[in-house]
Amino acid sequence: MPQLTTLRSTPSWRLTAWAAAWLLCAGGALWQSSAHARETSGKVVEESHGSRDAAASASKGEEIIEPPPKKEDEADAKPSRARASRARSSKPAASAPAPDMKELRERLDQKLAEVRAAQERAGAPQPPAARKHRPAAQPIARLDDDDSNSPQAKALARAHRGGALDTPIPMPAHGSSAHWDYTGPAGPQAWGGMKPEFAQCSSGQRQSPIDIRDGIRVDLEPIKFDYHPTAFRVLDNGHTVQVNVDPGNAISVMGRRFELVQFHFHRPSEERINGRQFAMVAHLVHKDLEGKLAVVAVLIEPGKAHPVVQQVWNNLPLEKNEEQRAGALLDVAALLPESRNYYTYMGSLTTPPCSEGVLWMVLKQPAELSLDQIGIFARLYPMNARPTQPGSGRIIKESN
Ligand SMILES: [Zn+2]
Repeated sequence: MPQLTTLRSTPSWRLTAWAAAWLLCAGGALWQSSAHARETSGKVVEESHGSRDAAASASKGEEIIEPPPKKEDEADAKPSRARASRARSSKPAASAPAPDMKELRERLDQKLAEVRAAQERAGAPQPPAARKHRPAAQPIARLDDDDSNSPQAKALARAHRGGALDTPIPMPAHGSSAHWDYTGPAGPQAWGGMKPEFAQCSSGQRQSPIDIRDGIRVDLEPIKFDYHPTAFRVLDNGHTVQVNVDPGNAISVMGRRFELVQFHFHRPSEERINGRQFAMVAHLVHKDLEGKLAVVAVLIEPGKAHPVVQQVWNNLPLEKNEEQRAGALLDVAALLPESRNYYTYMGSLTTPPCSEGVLWMVLKQPAELSLDQIGIFARLYPMNARPTQPGSGRIIKESN
């Protein structure tokens, strides 16, 4: 994944440069040789690649094995220090060969450890798999997240926000001229006129949600869910609670593979089944390589507490529009009901810009949340459902 490569390696160079600068200041003339600078850079780049692999493995739920430390480094530590002190009192750089680099490495590692500790205190825990086996990988991966200016980072951020998707598009907390809402003057009736890009909200002929009825009963092909426990971030984007997941989860249907980007919730459910509205709904938003969207809707009714949703609520961020990275992996597959029978039709995003061409698959069997869990979402979003839209003769199919 080339995007990730560039994205993840850049900030570690920044960290390297910073740490090298620190060493130059702290170590004095001894450390000023460019050979040393190259050596330390190489060391950190190696770590950075390690961290990338770790992150990739962690997102697949694989075990990550930390390679054993190099013993020669430990054995050489003391003599190296002695040589370094001799070198400081006599001729520096030119006469300070390999052993000094080891001390330099040690000091760099120590400094990196301090930076890590500081970041650790600042929060943003990693999935336990990564934390347990490769502590060195965390801070570098986390620094990567700060690199939001590169085109790759922006593209990735867009993909993960699900910018083009069903709800995402996190709006700025203040000052947006197109601050749409679910009630009042900026409610659904006004969306289409708020911005030219939102025009389809009022002029579209294949809008969502709809009241699903009179489906054609056929042997619908099963949706193939290829979900794995995954790292996730929770975002309150001002319109819903959204869970952004790391890559690696997908569905296959109608010969296409769609990658899960995010899921989010509405209360009450936006879609209706033969006129019936449910307590809530979760929309799992997927995107294929061409940018086509497929949303799986899981209806929710009151019942038993749901551990996956509890994990999401546990990680609710305190501030809107600020992602909170969770410390454990999320088993998204556990969100799905036992029966995977579904209704399917072509529709749109249910939030501005209301873009059409979205493949909808609404699972027939609802999942359960406890009343307490529904209550938690209701405190944040008592009503965030777009009204149903005209069916306009669209074909709805349903599993037998
Ligand atoms: Zn939605």
